[in-house]
Order: sequence, then C-alpha cells, then structure tokens
Amino acid sequence: MQYHYTILPQNHPHVMRPCAKCSTMKPFVPTDQFRINAQKKLLDVWLIYQCIDCGHTWNLTLFERISPKQLDRALYDRLLSNDAALIEQYAFDVQLHANRHAPLCYDALRYEIEGETPAMDTPCELIFDCSVPLGIKASKLIREVLQLSGAQFDALTQQNALRSLDGKPLRKRKMTTHLHIQFDPPCIIPPVE
Ligand SMILES: [Zn+2]
Repeated sequence: MQYHYTILPQNHPHVMRPCAKCSTMKPFVPTDQFRINAQKKLLDVWLIYQCIDCGHTWNLTLFERISPKQLDRALYDRLLSNDAALIEQYAFDVQLHANRHAPLCYDALRYEIEGETPAMDTPCELIFDCSVPLGIKASKLIREVLQLSGAQFDALTQQNALRSLDGKPLRKRKMTTHLHIQFDPPCIIPPVE
C-alpha cells in the first residue's frame, strides 16, 4: 500500500539579519515583490525582504549587472509581474541564500500535509512531495503523519522498521522535494518458554 502526501508551505523561511531600524538582529521575510533596476543598459534584480517587526527592507540580489539579453524572456515577465511561484522558488533556494551570506532559517515555517493517515498494522510506503525544497527535518514530517513520539520514531528507525528507500539514514535527513519511506510494522517476538 502506498500513501501519498503533498506538503504545502504556508509561508517562507526567514533570514536573520541586523536591522538598521531595530538596531538588532531580526528575522526578515520575503515580500511579494521583486525589484528591477536598469542602469546603463544593465539590470540588477532583487527579491525584497522586510524585517518582521518594523518593515525595514533588505534586497536579496538575484542578478547583478546583467544584460537584458542574458535574461530569458519568460523569466523577465515573471519577475515583472512579481510571480508568486517564482518568489517561492527563490525564497526556498538554499544555495542562493548561502551565496549571499543569508542562510535560511526554518524555525517559523508553517506547512500543511495533505494525505491520509496510514493503517500501521501492515507494511506500507509513504511518499512525500513538495514543490520546493522544504528544508525541515524528514523525521518531523514522518512523526506527524504516523503520529509518533520522538522515542517511538528513534526505536522504529533503529529496528529498520522505518527506512528511506534510497538507503540514506533518516534521522538527520531534511525534506527536499521528494522523500520515499518504507514502513514495516515491527514483529512481536514471543517470549522463550
Ligand atoms: Zn526592524
């Protein structure tokens, strides 16, 4: 039996930055706006972030001094129209944020899981999909779906009753866009007489 889950992010990861107005480190979240600046026929493109407390903005550089010819027309149109799916794609881009020295923080990330609770008495596969690399611990998702405590999750992974199909260890793994889990209910070993 296979169970499919779709993860729907309800907000975006934030970045911690010094806020000039608050004079301290604050979480900055993406706004719904790109900013494009043209200078001497070259373009700069940013995704605008703002401090969650005071609204002070910070620009995450997406493209720097590029010729409009280098920018794909379809992409340019999506930037101009502040395409929400494109904002989401950049907002979850781990490498982009690492390159800009603004690592993503997932502490306040909210999401919904669509899918049914599996019957835990027969072997099953759990398949998680998300349109963006979600970045949170895979264990958190699995525990939510199977309604397990941390100790129960640890015990099941140690017994290999819960394992990822690609063989990579589950415990420290993060959810990206896809995760495929095998669950085999542990058998009860009868006491020796
Ligand atoms: Zn602020």
